[in-house]
Amino acid sequence: MTARTCAGCDLCCTTLAVDALAKPCGARCPHLAGDPGHSCGIYAERPDECARYACVWLEGLLPERLKPSRCGFVVNPPKAGSKAPIRLLSLLPDAARPRSWVKELPALSTVSRRLNMPIIIDDPSGVPVAVLAPSGRLFLREEHPELFRADNINVGVPITEFVRNPLTDPLHRVRR
Ligand code: SF4
Ligand code: SF4
Repeated sequence: MTARTCAGCDLCCTTLAVDALAKPCGARCPHLAGDPGHSCGIYAERPDECARYACVWLEGLLPERLKPSRCGFVVNPPKAGSKAPIRLLSLLPDAARPRSWVKELPALSTVSRRLNMPIIIDDPSGVPVAVLAPSGRLFLREEHPELFRADNINVGVPITEFVRNPLTDPLHRVRR
């Protein structure tokens, strides 16, 4: 199998916040230049958080057709170094395709179930609008405001919506 590469894609350079550059979610990085996938104008000196980043598609956990440049959203792995007891994936859409994730819910649900990790789905500015639980249930913010904190940092997911106990699940201990 051919290893996946970023060739033709640079969506994370817009969707993700980069603290070292004070770049918020959804803002195109000012260092983007050239062809997508070879487009970082400061590649050799890019921040560590850029150099260490690999989206869930690049890690091989989503189908080939869901390359971010094609499908219109980036699924992020759990934050490195997070002390949160339960690990989460997060999905950030391209501002031009903010609802691109809707038709891909079955594939997203498969990875959420397999990893036993909820997927927090954001709008292009990084505000959570929905959470997909490992059980396959989709909780929309407008229908379940009690699950969404006002500071938009975390989203609550009922423990019954996990397919295994997330606090004893080895997957949560071995993944970043
Ligand atoms: S979104 Fe994924 S595939 Fe695209 S450039 Fe970023 S890490 Fe590479
Ligand atoms: S510094 Fe380079 S790798 Fe980091 S977000 Fe900007 S363009 Fe992308």
